[in-house]
Amino acid sequence: MARILIVEDEADIVMSLEEDLRRQGHQTTAARDGAQGLELGKQGPWDLILLDVMLPKLDGFDVCGELRKAGVRTPIIMLTARGQEAEKEIGLDLGADDYVTKPFSVRELRARIRAHLRRAARDDERRCAFGDCEVNFDRAELRRAGQLVEITQQELRLLGVFLHNRGRVLSRDQIIEAAWGHGIAITDRAVDTHVFNLRKKIEPVPSEPRFLVGVRGLGYRFEDEV
Ligand code: CA
Repeated sequence: MARILIVEDEADIVMSLEEDLRRQGHQTTAARDGAQGLELGKQGPWDLILLDVMLPKLDGFDVCGELRKAGVRTPIIMLTARGQEAEKEIGLDLGADDYVTKPFSVRELRARIRAHLRRAARDDERRCAFGDCEVNFDRAELRRAGQLVEITQQELRLLGVFLHNRGRVLSRDQIIEAAWGHGIAITDRAVDTHVFNLRKKIEPVPSEPRFLVGVRGLGYRFEDEV
């Protein structure tokens, strides 16, 4: 089940979309003009946004551009008019993920929606962001403020363990088991060294960690952001 925002001013299209999506078990909310779409889009959280181009008040391109500027990363499928090839490109340039040409078949749209929801769920698992850092586990990449930072496989595994346990204190034993493997002979000291090195790569001020904090006598905790 997904939460889907539909931004569309044509009542009959809204109605048939809502009917079909709800029948698929999704939750839908409709915005009838661009301004409302932008407002609701920012409020979220949405799993997907269907966005018409020709809208009262603010067109779909503006809405898409503004949402991306505001940091909204929800997949957006634009509903473009047939024959408007340029519309597709503009939409994709502005950060839309896909487009469907009107008049579209419900079945086609349904397939696209399914594909994007699946991909988004996968990306969520494999990508993580905090502070000015972005980790892409599939590509084994760490970026800070968009710049690639060198990171070893082991550090990446360690970071993954922390990110998957945000807010929880992990003992050194738990960390070793999760990041190195059961029965691997790694000293507590080696864990500390890896944490020390990792901090240099992810912390704004490594000597005063904001994310990877030490919990005296217990281990480490990756701070959940507020
Ligand atoms: Ca329209």
